[in-house]
Amino acid sequence: MNFDLDKEHNLIREKVRLFAEQEIKPAAPLLDENETFSVDLTKKMGKLGLFGMDIPEKYGGLGTDTLSYIIAVEELARVDGSHAATLAAHNSLGIGPVYNYGTEEQKKKYLPSLCTGEAIWAFGLTEPDAGSDALGCKTKAELNDGKWIIDGSKIFITNGASDISAGVTVLAVTGENEGKKEFTALLVEKGTKGYSAKELKGKMMWRASDTSSLRFDNCIVPEENTLGVKGQGSSIMLRTLDNGRLSIAAMGLGCARGAYEMALSYSRKRKQFGKAIAGFQAIAFKLADMALKIELAGNLLYKACWLKDNNREFAKESAMSKLYCSEIAREVTDEAVQIHGGYGLMKSNDIERFYRDQRMLQIGEGTSEIQRLIISRHILNKM
Ligand SMILES: Cc1cc2nc3c(=O)[nH]c(=O)nc-3n(C[C@H](O)[C@H](O)[C@H](O)COP(=O)(O)OP(=O)(O)OC[C@H]3O[C@@H](n4cnc5c(N)ncnc54)[C@H](O)[C@@H]3O)c2cc1C
Repeated sequence: MNFDLDKEHNLIREKVRLFAEQEIKPAAPLLDENETFSVDLTKKMGKLGLFGMDIPEKYGGLGTDTLSYIIAVEELARVDGSHAATLAAHNSLGIGPVYNYGTEEQKKKYLPSLCTGEAIWAFGLTEPDAGSDALGCKTKAELNDGKWIIDGSKIFITNGASDISAGVTVLAVTGENEGKKEFTALLVEKGTKGYSAKELKGKMMWRASDTSSLRFDNCIVPEENTLGVKGQGSSIMLRTLDNGRLSIAAMGLGCARGAYEMALSYSRKRKQFGKAIAGFQAIAFKLADMALKIELAGNLLYKACWLKDNNREFAKESAMSKLYCSEIAREVTDEAVQIHGGYGLMKSNDIERFYRDQRMLQIGEGTSEIQRLIISRHILNKM
């Protein structure tokens, strides 16, 4: 067994860390305060090669492995959740399904611009009445004379409404088979008549990421916009979420690491009772527990990436990573705020933003309860 990262992984970490520290860290507090999605920083992430990292160069990607991409998300999350969310959603939910299920024509049409950061793509699954129970979705599409007519709405869709949003992969009910709903994934481009996207404001966390509600009113797209085949929608959705959970886990790991580093540094500087608070065992033990959780989370997540990169089944490990990394992000940021005392509650301190941003990680792409359901099903099905 070799726990050392390859030279390329370390280089990617260094490159993304430098970018995150220089470009994102100084801008993040104000973007968060003003709830502003930065087109400029998104394009810079694209220029750095972070979009479509793990897809082949012939479509505009870098052709890296999954672990490289996950390290990139982790490094962005180490300084800011919103920008990590933009990257994770665009790569795992936007580009991923188009690459994995698209025809050669669709890949050539969409992927090159999506890999540069000039355009981003969303994944529309959640609806007002269908969250954890995603297959309870009501958005319908009817095939008529070579055209899909889509009606319905989606909510909480990342990267759906910004100026550079180019479109969405939408899951729609397209019929019934033996009493069961049939689902199909459809590509809908921005500007299509009957399709509209509106930015949702007022989030507690990821305030500089673009979250939107989408509407489809008699929205017509050609049959060629079917992603995969008719009826394959639910399996596309499940597989896409297996991949996406790795990136949410990376956000948890990065968020925890960033919070831990802030707490470590603060505890060495802050003096009470005549000495640095790190010198009190109560604080030192908190730091020890934080370091332990981060170590375990990293090992679990990197193993899940290794399984995927070696073409092994990774759905259970992906759910475990998402669950564990997101839950330790909550625990670590909470203790990091505690170590900062009253200063940790002030907006002028980055830890305050981390404390809010981590909260999403136990909800998005399947709540912690749903991850436990998935893991238990994997375990029990094996019995
Ligand atoms: C900022 C943001 C970005 C998002 N981005 C996207 C996106 O890009 N694309 C997309 O499609 N969706 C997106 N989502 C939606 C997200 O995936 C859902 O919010 C999530 O799946 C939970 O659904 P819900 O909010 O409807 O909660 P609900 O499903 O209503 O759950 C409410 C509570 O009930 C619990 N619960 C539900 N069912 C069960 C069960 N069977 N057993 C035990 N407990 C259960 C849940 O765990 C939770 O605690 C985003 C959400 C947010 C807030």
